[in-house]
Amino acid sequence: MATFDTTLDQLIGEKTAKQLARAFGIKTVEQLLRHYPRRYLQRGQLTPISQLPIDENVTILAEVEKLNTRPLKGKKGSILEVTITDGSANAKLTFFNQAWRSNQLIPGSQGLFAGKTSMFSGQIQLAHPDYELFDESSEVDPEAWAKTPIPIYPASSTLPSWRIQKVVEKVLAEAQFPEEPLEQGILDELGILTLEQALTLIHRPSHPRDFEQATKTLKTHEALGLLLEFGLVRKQLEQSKVKPRKPGEILEKFDKNLPYQLTGAQQKVAAEIEHDLASGIAMNRLLQGDVGSGKTVVALRAMLASIEDGSQAAIIAPTEVLATQHFIAINQMLGELSQQLQPVLLTGQMTQTEQRKALLKIVSGTAQIVIGTHSLISERVEFFDLSLAVIDEQHRFGVEQREALRSKGENVHTLIMTATPIPRTLAVTIFGDLSVSVLDEKPRDRQKISTHVVNVDQPGHVSRVWERVSEEVKAGSQAFVVCPRIELSDQDSGDGASAAAIEVFHSLGSNPYMKDVRLGLLHGKMPADEKSAVMAEFAEGQLDVLVSTTVIEVGVDVPNATAMVILDADRFGLAQLHQLRGRVGRGSKPAICLLLTKSDAESESYQRLSAMESTDDGFELSELDLLYRKEGDVTGFNQSGNKSRLKLLGVVKDQEVITTAQPIAKKILNTDADIEAIVKLCSPIDDQKVISRG
Ligand code: ADP
Ligand code: MG
Repeated sequence: MATFDTTLDQLIGEKTAKQLARAFGIKTVEQLLRHYPRRYLQRGQLTPISQLPIDENVTILAEVEKLNTRPLKGKKGSILEVTITDGSANAKLTFFNQAWRSNQLIPGSQGLFAGKTSMFSGQIQLAHPDYELFDESSEVDPEAWAKTPIPIYPASSTLPSWRIQKVVEKVLAEAQFPEEPLEQGILDELGILTLEQALTLIHRPSHPRDFEQATKTLKTHEALGLLLEFGLVRKQLEQSKVKPRKPGEILEKFDKNLPYQLTGAQQKVAAEIEHDLASGIAMNRLLQGDVGSGKTVVALRAMLASIEDGSQAAIIAPTEVLATQHFIAINQMLGELSQQLQPVLLTGQMTQTEQRKALLKIVSGTAQIVIGTHSLISERVEFFDLSLAVIDEQHRFGVEQREALRSKGENVHTLIMTATPIPRTLAVTIFGDLSVSVLDEKPRDRQKISTHVVNVDQPGHVSRVWERVSEEVKAGSQAFVVCPRIELSDQDSGDGASAAAIEVFHSLGSNPYMKDVRLGLLHGKMPADEKSAVMAEFAEGQLDVLVSTTVIEVGVDVPNATAMVILDADRFGLAQLHQLRGRVGRGSKPAICLLLTKSDAESESYQRLSAMESTDDGFELSELDLLYRKEGDVTGFNQSGNKSRLKLLGVVKDQEVITTAQPIAKKILNTDADIEAIVKLCSPIDDQKVISRG
């Protein structure tokens, strides 16, 4: 008998165990059983060959059409060419010196074929294909067998789907399941299977409704796991009394020097935050506000409100550039208060000596305002008395990191800010442990940014773009040029077609419109000090045009920038484009944003981009993103620390599952059930490395 924790090498061949570990990080029974099929095929339903992606590992169901053996030219040996078909289109398999396979691959037989697709003289080929033919004659009940769905697993080049299936079968036969985590009453109420049934049927369905029910069950588990965990955090927070923090002289002084009036929304949110800080219960608040809605000043005021008693407040930003910007901006806004509060910056790129100095100021309490990147989370950072942690751009951070920062003090309030607005209903669902504030009003003097989608294939359009940029520069303004990637040799994006910052920077250098223009280059692979130097030069107006990647996406504030050109704009999501666009129009002059694309006006990606022309509402755009793109990008929930948490559940498309689970989670939280045990069994474990799309 094997339990969930039994390692696979005790159950299956050593070689297969090693392959599973190497390809997917799967080492235990539970990890294997949580390696869910990606989809299911039905015998007889052939996979459309013409729709296969090129250059990817695929698993398809096809029929052998014909064979052809021919000798190798000028060498010993032969080539066996096998044509497989889906009934309308063909693909070719090639085997060297394996003529014996012609005894297996009999025309008319069906089976699974796996390999990497390539295109060779107009025809799809499977390189080094692996196959498993169906053998109907060996089946007891051919009719039932024909109806049984075939699970298709995320596979690797050494482990095709059907081999994984066989290992799973073997392990399922020996596995002893842990005790069912949920009570029967709850299972009934949710209409789901037991864990054992679900984990069995997801791998071994005899009918499509089997895997449907199994999937629903496991999705519900994931939702419950999430909700219960959030619920626990919330419960702990509500029970943990913290020292109330009240604003006083510091905030008063700050407000007196503030050069503008807070907007109504800023005042409202400020009041919500001050109420939380003074309540004696740890704040755990999400502040959503579109780009330019003025979150920074709200955060800074919260920080000032919490440190009157000599404690400290910290703000953590997702990038070096942004942390540095915050540091500069905060010092500026504080004015004379800087002397008293001694703001300090901590980033991983600072020299050891600088870091040590900063750490000392933090642990001694000399610095009451601390600004930094991820490095603030690291163990060596100790606070004298941290009262408020502000996290800028939540979508870049996971729940664990948030918790790590909170654990840096006894009495820590948390404020999380995001400028990638998540549709309101969704925010409450997925950040169940947070209260939500929204800045739904922008400071009055924001400039309208006129946005245009430009098709680069239209003659004259591109040179008009650069002419337009040069006009802005002549008028004393500055411009951003944003590219999807850093250099052409970058493999990340997987295509050779999109614009690269380094190349664009060089080609603009010889563009006649850019003759007297001072060009700068900024991207993520540059050393940190170079990045800050370029950013500073641009901010001070020593550069006119900054060619960059999306490193400028969040938070960068250069009021004199009035034009933004985004190359291959269709590579970006709307929410992200909106973020980028928010970098211009921050001063007194009107701004322009040009979205360049190779897509023609009829295409879906062009249509999607034109939404940018018609709306300036980040919420609306992020909702559109949900329509056009896959989720994950929008919620950030599949990023960083959260990656391993959700395997089947999509927080957008499965909102219904979440809504159904919500009251049940509440109910469970109010019982004395072992919630951590439930969470453990409901949440899939371990991040698995998926190599092929199966
Ligand atoms: P975001 O919400 O995108 O982080 P910022 O906090 O960077 O926005 O604010 C954008 C700009 O608006 C900053 O230059 C800031 O000084 C300015 N600002 C913020 N609040 C107000 C206000 N109430 N009135 C005028 N300008 C404001
Ligand atoms: Mg900001």
